[in-house]
Amino acid sequence: MHEISVLHKAVELAEQTAHDNGIERISYITLEVGELSGYLPVFFEKYFPLVIENRPVCKDAKLKMIIARGEALCLECGAMYNVMIQEGRCPKCGSRSKKILGGRQFLLKEIGYE
Ligand SMILES: [Zn+2]
Repeated sequence: MHEISVLHKAVELAEQTAHDNGIERISYITLEVGELSGYLPVFFEKYFPLVIENRPVCKDAKLKMIIARGEALCLECGAMYNVMIQEGRCPKCGSRSKKILGGRQFLLKEIGYE
């Protein structure tokens, strides 16, 4: 599962950020996961406890996720629509010709601490 390796990287980045800011304990980590990123949030939830164990700075951290919508602009008629809901086809004109505007990202959005 490729989710576990990107999750490792996100947690390492969170730890580095905590270290750079003198934060001793992270209480939560927020990830932004795009609908079109290819990553499945359910796997992040599943692997998160494994990734944070044995890491003193974030072993008690909670995982929060923001799901970014997969938005597209139809190149035929200019309509904006959700790629997932419409299965990649413009609901107005039926074209599959599109520009992806958002939803491919995977980001460490925020870390929380007390
Ligand atoms: Zn269209």
